[in-house]
Amino acid sequence: MPPKTAQKVENRSGVGEKTLRKARTIPIFDGCRERMKQFDIPTYYRSGFITGLKRMRNARDRMKTDLDPTVLNFGNVRIMLARHFGFCYGVENAIEISYRALDENPGKRLFLLSQMIHNPHVNDDLQGRGIQFLMDTAGNRLMDWKTLTPDDVVIVPAFGTTLEIEAELAHLGVSLKQYNTTCPFVEKVWKRSARLGTDGYTIVIHGKHDHEETRATFSHAKEDAPAVVVRDMKEAQAFAKYVSGQSPAEDFYREFEGRFSDGFDVALHLQRIGVVNQTTMLATETQAIADYLREVVQQRDGSADHFADTRDTLCYATNDNQRATLALLEHNADLALVIGGFNSSNTSHIVELCEEKLPTYFIGSASDLTDQNRISHWNIHTHQLEETTNFLPAQRPLTIVVTSGASCPDSLVESVIARLLEMLHAEVPIEEAVEQARQHWEAS
Ligand code: SF4
Repeated sequence: MPPKTAQKVENRSGVGEKTLRKARTIPIFDGCRERMKQFDIPTYYRSGFITGLKRMRNARDRMKTDLDPTVLNFGNVRIMLARHFGFCYGVENAIEISYRALDENPGKRLFLLSQMIHNPHVNDDLQGRGIQFLMDTAGNRLMDWKTLTPDDVVIVPAFGTTLEIEAELAHLGVSLKQYNTTCPFVEKVWKRSARLGTDGYTIVIHGKHDHEETRATFSHAKEDAPAVVVRDMKEAQAFAKYVSGQSPAEDFYREFEGRFSDGFDVALHLQRIGVVNQTTMLATETQAIADYLREVVQQRDGSADHFADTRDTLCYATNDNQRATLALLEHNADLALVIGGFNSSNTSHIVELCEEKLPTYFIGSASDLTDQNRISHWNIHTHQLEETTNFLPAQRPLTIVVTSGASCPDSLVESVIARLLEMLHAEVPIEEAVEQARQHWEAS
């Protein structure tokens, strides 16, 4: 019997929006503390049964020590859901503010500096309601900013923005204060950078130099100290050769072109270094880079005194989602589906982790499950869309890992599960499988 599904994925009608956006009280957890911050976001981003499961797990595990996945047993198919996935604090905050801006400014022109978060469904919905983007994700301008007036409303996305853009818009009389959705965890990185600068360290940013958040962090960091961006271990190793003096200083300016601050002097500015991160990098890589650079300084100086011993600046959601992914990969499964925007950094890293153990498909929504056994998915290595046929193995029961990034609505995850269950002719209705899972956790 095909399973019943709980909810439509999206509402584009524009009718009854306020009713649809009635607040749900989702507790947000940060480390060991329950923050109890509640966000008022459109209910069509939620999934009734996923919200219920998350609440139940959170209520039973307030310290977030139990990373076991939640298993939904449909007889011939088992869906293994990561302990942590989906909208994070910063994303819900940004969504709430953006929709509030729409409600509070009828008749005005509304702009987002760029994509609010890296999820096309959320961005499309905002655009469908009249919000325009000033830039694409690469920072290319989509309109003439000189046409902006003080009466226009401009929203800063969760990634934050650069000081240069702030200054330019201020010059045009556009205020960014009222609807600034910069995530507090990104601002925390800026504060950490400022401290490093005050203490006389050059700031090494582990991040993707073309990512909005890293562009914003670089802009803030370079006000406090010389700054340079390294993307991964390979670049960290190349950078380390300048720290140790193995590579000639003049090559640095070519090799790291566009990724260091004005006036960067290799002879002066690599003596004392400290590392911060884009909040969504791979935790293991971040740790490895920090350890490696500390070792390079230790070998050069005979002590690591000139390496700032900072903890990583990954955000709680990145940590939770990656730890939960690693924990679920300890269980046997046949394949993994990771759902999110293809330009989402945190989602790509979840894909990377899953790929180490399972056939993994990075998809945007249920519509990527194109027919009975064919899937359209994003390859994070080639940056191409691919199609795979017969992606569902023949054996039964089939165990499928399903998880998503921090910018993916749970309603999309629900629709992917519903589609899978339909394709596989699941033997148990979804309500029954959810109830079994609930009873399991209550008894444990
Ligand atoms: S992933 Fe982290 S830094 Fe980014 S918006 Fe979410 S909580 Fe903030």
